[in-house]
Amino acid sequence: MNNNTITIVKCPACHKDVEWSEKSPYRPFCCKRCQLIDLGDWATEEHRIADKELTEQDLWSEDEISDLMSKH
Ligand SMILES: [Zn+2]
Repeated sequence: MNNNTITIVKCPACHKDVEWSEKSPYRPFCCKRCQLIDLGDWATEEHRIADKELTEQDLWSEDEISDLMSKH
């Protein structure tokens, strides 16, 4: 029938609709910011990093993310 069915998920952080496709690199989050928010309760830290995250996002390795999640 229709092989182009688009899956829409809710961003866990802000509950915005997110298209589950290559258009949404941070899925299920709508954006990098929401992804980071959900990683842990480090909101104060996040404020400091927020301005840099757009240029330094590639510096976030899987290990760093795992480390953040383990501090939950
Ligand atoms: Zn969001």
